[in-house]
Amino acid sequence: MSTVLETEEHKALRAAVAALGKRYGRAYSADLARKGEHPRELWDEAGKLGYLGVNLPEEYGGGGGGMAELSIVLEELGAAGSPLLMMVVSPAICGTVIARFGTEAQKRKWLPGLSDGTLSMSFGITEPDAGSNSHRITTTARRDGDDWLLTGRKVFISGVDISDATLVVGRTEDARSGNLKPCLFIVPRDTPGFGRTAIDMELYAAEKQFELVLDDVRLPADALVGGGASGAGEAGSEGGDAGLLQLFAGLNPERIMGAAFAIGMGRYAVGRAVEYAKTRTVWKGAPIGSHQAIAHPLAQAHIELELARLMMQKAARLYDEGDDIGAGEAANMAKYAAGEACVKAVDQAVHTLGGNGLTREYGLASLVTAARVARIAPVSREMILNYVSHQSLGLPKSY
Ligand SMILES: Cc1cc2nc3c(=O)[nH]c(=O)nc-3n(C[C@H](O)[C@H](O)[C@H](O)COP(=O)(O)OP(=O)(O)OC[C@H]3O[C@@H](n4cnc5c(N)ncnc54)[C@H](O)[C@@H]3O)c2cc1C
Repeated sequence: MSTVLETEEHKALRAAVAALGKRYGRAYSADLARKGEHPRELWDEAGKLGYLGVNLPEEYGGGGGGMAELSIVLEELGAAGSPLLMMVVSPAICGTVIARFGTEAQKRKWLPGLSDGTLSMSFGITEPDAGSNSHRITTTARRDGDDWLLTGRKVFISGVDISDATLVVGRTEDARSGNLKPCLFIVPRDTPGFGRTAIDMELYAAEKQFELVLDDVRLPADALVGGGASGAGEAGSEGGDAGLLQLFAGLNPERIMGAAFAIGMGRYAVGRAVEYAKTRTVWKGAPIGSHQAIAHPLAQAHIELELARLMMQKAARLYDEGDDIGAGEAANMAKYAAGEACVKAVDQAVHTLGGNGLTREYGLASLVTAARVARIAPVSREMILNYVSHQSLGLPKSY
């Protein structure tokens, strides 16, 4: 793929991460996914090399870069067949929120570990009765002396078992209804009352999704991101606009990384299909890749992945330059384009291999469901189309 829009440093990062990804490769990830195990060695090595925290501030052990760099890391690992899904949540969402809004103590406690991978954090916003409508979340925090008591339920939260803590989005008691005034809490994995059950997903992925039950989980005052000093939850008061800013600060990185995940997977699938189409011959010596019915859809998939990457690069640049509003539109569009391109690329790759597209040996069939994740999470295709209809085009809302 062309990299003309990137600096020499970006190209070097891309090449170095691609080499790391290649060393592990698809077989490593697929094997662990089948066993339901975490790609610990790859995670640790990527952390040691500074790739996981490349977006986080240098003074807290990060690389001092931004989403441009972090998205390169995830895309290249994915293109090598070894994506690290937890990069979407740990350094991108949680790391960003803490770096931008955490107290000094929270930054010191979490950022060095999130940067070198020795700590990780999952992110919990989705609820069974709220789903795409996060204004309806009911996970509620109430004051008890200096502490907080957090109660609620979350679903589909990735990687809770392998994370040291989960960044849980709730609301305070006096803001239980109406527009969301969120507050974000860091909940350590083994806190009493914080229960988790793995959801039986039809996905070959190393990272599991969990249903979480928070039953009066007692948290110290400093579990609240920003500690209330920024206005989110001053003693006894509601989460306020500061909480909303914190949440939004995490959503653009989440979407940019959702796009990187999808583009990486799409590139991996097209790469495998092209390799196969060049050598598989069933008619008079002509490889199947010489038939346009096989070649053109792969060319289309390649173009659509390139276009999605272009939008992802735009979103990352806007975000890294501090334009949160501009980045919001671009990040949504990038996630949409990447999700669609990924689903089509994987579908065409499976088709290109004929029967082998469905064998375990070739390993593409399991990507069919994995690719669908890119269309649903972290924000669904329809919610992005809603956003663009309303925000970009000014069309009225139906809901
Ligand atoms: C593999 C995986 C990992 C995940 N990891 C996490 C995680 O780590 N943390 C986390 O918080 N969440 C996570 N999620 C949850 C994910 O963000 C949600 O599944 C997603 O936001 C959609 O919510 P829902 O599943 O409740 O679907 P629903 O909101 O019930 O939507 C169902 C369908 O209806 C459509 N729809 C809903 N409202 C509208 C509307 N107004 N207009 C048009 N169409 C609409 C949706 O697009 C979708 O197609 C994960 C999900 C998956 C599958």
